Amino acid sequence: MLEGLQPKDVWKYFEEICAIPHGSGNTTAISAYLQDFAKKQGLGYNVEPCGNVIIRKDATPGCEQAPAVVLQGHMDMVAVKDEGCDKDLTKEGIQPVIDEDGKFVYAPGTSLGGDDGIALAYGLAVLAADNLVHPPIELVATVDEETGMDGARELLAQDVVGRRWINLDSEDEGILLAGCAGGLTQHSMFPVSRDTVSGNLLRIAVTGCRGGHSGTEIDKNRANAILVLASLIHEMDCGKMLQPLWIAGGEKDNAIPTTAEIVICVNDYERYEICRAFDRAERKLLDVYRRQEPGIDFVMEETSGGGEYEIQEGSYRVMSPASFEKVLNFLMLVPFGVSAMSETPKGLVETSNNVGILRTDGDMVVADSSVRSMISLRKEQLGGKIALLTTLCGGIAERHSEYPGWEYRPESPLREAWVAAYRELYGEEPKVETIHAGLECGLIIEHMPETDAISFGPNIFDIHTTAERMEIASVERTWNLLVKLLERLGRG
Ligand SMILES: [Zn+2]
Repeated sequence: MLEGLQPKDVWKYFEEICAIPHGSGNTTAISAYLQDFAKKQGLGYNVEPCGNVIIRKDATPGCEQAPAVVLQGHMDMVAVKDEGCDKDLTKEGIQPVIDEDGKFVYAPGTSLGGDDGIALAYGLAVLAADNLVHPPIELVATVDEETGMDGARELLAQDVVGRRWINLDSEDEGILLAGCAGGLTQHSMFPVSRDTVSGNLLRIAVTGCRGGHSGTEIDKNRANAILVLASLIHEMDCGKMLQPLWIAGGEKDNAIPTTAEIVICVNDYERYEICRAFDRAERKLLDVYRRQEPGIDFVMEETSGGGEYEIQEGSYRVMSPASFEKVLNFLMLVPFGVSAMSETPKGLVETSNNVGILRTDGDMVVADSSVRSMISLRKEQLGGKIALLTTLCGGIAERHSEYPGWEYRPESPLREAWVAAYRELYGEEPKVETIHAGLECGLIIEHMPETDAISFGPNIFDIHTTAERMEIASVERTWNLLVKLLERLGRG
């Protein structure tokens, strides 16, 4: 389907990769394909215990003395499909096609896997080429990046010679990434005692917030539905009258929550007061939040079904006022959004937090915060603050899923070479940035602190969705840039 596209080899390998199912956790076949490639080309390779495949190629004559360079991409993809699509993505490959305008490659009904298949395609094309100038090359194909960066986490430093690390897992041509945020998840768990009361159920909800990625969109001034709900309840000021069965919101700790709800039990006498308090608070909050979130809505409605908190119809186990007050205090005080901007490079997000999930598990209310920072001390400090706040509000704090960031290096020969190659090719200045999200480079540098790393790639839009599409002309330009860069690095 893709023949005719340039560069020929890159697209040939990309199409071969597409034909192999390679969703996260399902990388045996693609690993075998890479090993096969190495054998056919007569190149040395090894497979690490965690599954990473490393293939080596000697420098071109005259470049033997140049420092070895690593080309790296991940071999897994986020394999998703449209509801109507009957493909089994664990067993079937995907079919890349060219769109009507001839501008993009996409896969009808499924994600494309340009993230990160194009990295491997570039890598294989470099390894197979006999007309390029380059230093010693290692292609490192990591496993399961999309589900926790396992391959990068378990990479063994002794398996790789190169300390100039080119990560090809970025989707924005013209931007060189030279740093990324580290992160951690802070669990705040609040034990709640319960009382038995009778009455009817009311559901109060915040809906229609825009949400977004908790890292790359944390500076877009989006409202957090969980925290808006807390403000609404605080503003209603109903004290002991508010008898919650549960409170919940958000789905992923790396997404800004778009909705949140609380289900409460009220008797007929209190009902009138609570409705009035809701109306008052709703008016006040709408006035402010509509400017930020045009689609936001506040709902109060009757509901039924008290789930595990229903003793019998009309009788429920609700959180005691003292317990719920602690939860609400925490939600009113926990930091959300950008807490610091970076100095180098200037004007980018340095440190942030998102409360992504709030849930009620029996007699425990749990809030998950996703802390990110470019600076590991700042990450520690913000995580520590949230833990301290949790304890002060009578909760239990636990830290999970910590991963290191990649700090911007003031001096980087690799970055300089890339910028020079870019200027030569495009005749303009590139942007050099850091990203407020995790990249495998953070873990790589943790194993090999002396590593000089960069990350770039061609334009890919809507990754991880069935709308994913990769720009054909951008793939070619990025290839030319990679070739120029290798040439510079080879000639030292
Ligand atoms: Zn990726």
